[in-house]
Amino acid sequence: MTATLLDGQAVSRRLLDETAERVARFRDRHGRRPCLATVLVGDDPASHTYVRMKVNRSAQVGIESRRVDLPASTSTEQLVKVLHDLSTDPQVDGILLQHPTPAQVDERAAFEAIAPGKDVDGVTGASFAAMAFGSRGFASCTPAGIIRLLDAYDVPLRGRRAVVVGRSAILGKPVGMLLLARDATVTYCHSRTVDLAAHVAEADIVVAAVGVPELIRGEWIRPGAVVVDAGYNPGNVGDVEFDAAAARASLITPVPGGVGPMTIAVLLAQTVDAAERHEAS
Ligand code: NAP
Repeated sequence: MTATLLDGQAVSRRLLDETAERVARFRDRHGRRPCLATVLVGDDPASHTYVRMKVNRSAQVGIESRRVDLPASTSTEQLVKVLHDLSTDPQVDGILLQHPTPAQVDERAAFEAIAPGKDVDGVTGASFAAMAFGSRGFASCTPAGIIRLLDAYDVPLRGRRAVVVGRSAILGKPVGMLLLARDATVTYCHSRTVDLAAHVAEADIVVAAVGVPELIRGEWIRPGAVVVDAGYNPGNVGDVEFDAAAARASLITPVPGGVGPMTIAVLLAQTVDAAERHEAS
């Protein structure tokens, strides 16, 4: 391996420490702790694990959690009502709806029930627009975590060719928008892209956001490129063929320990942002 690791554990730890200090100052000033409500629908074991990790990390930095666990049979209407109630609850600063939700739920309708001022996971249309326009709002956590990770290693973005593989509303599209806002030249690839290998081979920065194990072959990576693997597939396997890519890249994220820890750290930092804005309003 010749690449240096983009160590999301280490960078996220610094952000969590900063967040804990901000929480302590917030408590001194306002006599309460910022509160993050987590909403989980159903029994998916991976989703349970993600929520538990978020609740544990919240406790570590001093953020209060409000857990709302709903049965797998919950309808869109029931979920929307829960999210509306949390959106108007003055004790709650941020709301996270763990996704994917069960198939009968209209996930987009549920996301849109979250008040934009509490959308600390950055999943609403309002947050998407804020990222697109560069206006005030919350960023999607994984994309924002990726940019913070690149910044922590001083990876230049201006004028660089970035190829984003994946175009989901919460990951691929927003990470491309955030790279564009930093003056990268962005190409999106997706399942209908012709000759993915040729696009990836052009990239100074590759962001893999697909959910297909090792789809991005190491031999496609331009020597010296920076590789960010947001994919997380069963067996701790990313979307990039790690060993072969690491032999060519200059910097690369490990899976796990790259993008994942950044996502939670950004969620908690944005919860404190929301609480501060809440108190200022
Ligand atoms: P998603 O909604 O399923 O989107 C996957 C994207 O990949 C789609 O845009 C799809 O294209 C594209 N795609 C699928 N097969 C492809 C192929 N063969 N070639 C090129 N593109 C292809 O997934 P997501 O929610 O964005 O998540 C993507 C991955 O990131 C998953 O592994 C997920 O677990 C991981 N993730 C990690 C974190 C974290 O915190 N680390 C957070 C969120 C997600 P079409 O649009 O054409 O269908």
